[in-house]
Parts: sequence; C-alpha cells; structure tokens
Amino acid sequence: HGHVRFEGVSFGYDKGRPILDGLDIDVPAGTTLAVVGPSGAGKSTLARLLYRFYDVGTGRITIDGQDIAAVTQASLRAAIGIVPQDTVLFNDTIGYNIAYGREGAGPDEVARAAEGAAIAGFIERQPDGYDTRVGERGLKLSGGEKQRVAIARTLLKNPPILILDEATSALDSRTEADILATLEAVERGRTTIVIAHRLSTVVDADQIAVLDRGRVAERGTHAELLRRG
Ligand code: ADP
Ligand code: ADP
Repeated sequence: HGHVRFEGVSFGYDKGRPILDGLDIDVPAGTTLAVVGPSGAGKSTLARLLYRFYDVGTGRITIDGQDIAAVTQASLRAAIGIVPQDTVLFNDTIGYNIAYGREGAGPDEVARAAEGAAIAGFIERQPDGYDTRVGERGLKLSGGEKQRVAIARTLLKNPPILILDEATSALDSRTEADILATLEAVERGRTTIVIAHRLSTVVDADQIAVLDRGRVAERGTHAELLRRG
C-alpha cells in the first residue's frame, strides 16, 4: 500500500497568492516520483501538505483512496517519513539522534536505532558488533554524515511512504551519489517522493514531474524528458 494522489490541489500560505494551482499527481504504491523544478515552484509545499503541516485549500490528497484530511495526524505521520535538506542534530550521540522521537529513546531504542542504521548501511557494522561511532557526538559530523543520520532516523519507523525533500542537494556530488546509491535499496517497495534540484540526480525515478508555478508542467521518465528537451 501507499498509493498517493493529489487531485486538483490548490494552496496558498495565509490566503495569499496561490502556491499550488490545481496540482494533479499520481504516485502508484511502491513507485518513485521525482519532483523537480525551479526554486519557488512549490515543491516543498506539496511535501508539507502531504505530511499535513498545512491543510489543502481546494482539491484533495489521498493515500490508498482515503482523504488525508480524514485520518488522524498520528497515523498519517506514522505512514510518512520526511528527510529534510538541513538536519539539525542534538548535542548528543549519533545513536540518540537516530532514535530521537521514538518511544522513550532509552538504551533499547538507541540499540535498535543503531541496528536499523547498520542494516540501512548508514553506520558501518564491525565484526564484533556495531561501530562505536554510534556513541560519538553528532555535532561534529560532516553534512553528508548528518544526512545519513536523518535518513536512518526516518527509516527507523519504516514508513511505507518516504519523502526526500532536497535531502542531498546541499552535498557535494560525490557524497550525494554515495547516499543516493544507498537509498536505492531502501526505496524498493516503498512509495518515494524525491524532491530534487537537478534532473541528473533522479535518473532512476519511475516518473518525473516538472513543477512550475504550482502546476505539473511536464511529466515522464528521465529519457522521455530528455528526448523532449
Ligand atoms: P520550492 O520547494 O519549489 O523551492 P516552496 O514550496 O518552498 O518552493 O515555496 C513556494 C513558494 O511559497 C515560494 O514563493 C515561497 O516563498 C513561498 N513560501 C514557502 N513557505 C512559505 C511560508 N511558510 N509562508 C509563506 N510563503 C511561503
Ligand atoms: P514521528 O512523529 O514519527 O516521530 P516526526 O513527525 O517527528 O516523526 O518526524 C518525522 C521526520 O520528519 C523526522 O525525520 C523529522 O526530521 C522530519 N520533520 C519533522 N518536522 C519537520 C519539519 N517541520 N520540517 C521538515 N522535516 C520535519
């Protein structure tokens, strides 16, 4: 499950000018949609609406046919994981930062977080257990490592729907490629919405939507979009 649809969704912040303007998007369960487009096009806004940070103006958003306005915030947020562009870590260990937000986040949670992170390939597994890095302070991590922590944190709740909101855009291209390669494995079987700046980073998406002024200006596979220029 995890079929996401935006049906004629319009939205403006504070009843101002429309940011999304009759947006139609269909992401079949288990597929990856990349959303690209110029800065200010409304890409982050559509992610925030799906997570219900804000309510849609007109139109509706459904998951498996159910209007998200009719489900509880808690169940919606259990179903969706968001990885934002800039992750602010707590002045605590990597393990704590990964487990943050989980029930209690006690030692068990931290251990489970470490395991989740290791399985996802975000923290190296040593022959005798987990890398001691889980106990290191998070604040000294590089940008790429911080994003790996953010991804591991989100994956720990095993959401059927994953949103990557420019999660790797601020990184150098080598680090970005490394993380995207790891993500490919965890995206399998999950509905994934990747918000990206560059078309070149979303080559493998099942579908790419080019957003412009709150509407889908073009859609297709990477090859189709290139062919059309
Ligand atoms: P993108 O992710 O494509 O760069 P955004 O969805 O972040 O675009 O923003 C779309 C438009 O909405 C921009 O003009 C932006 O200034 C405006 N906007 C974003 N967030 C807010 C907010 N919280 N309040 C008012 N306007 C906002
Ligand atoms: P849960 O309720 O399952 O603990 P949260 O709703 O607290 O999860 O957060 C889930 C993910 O969304 C976290 O990885 C967090 O970094 C991210 N997140 C939470 N709030 C915001 C926000 N305002 N903007 C962007 N990302 C957010």
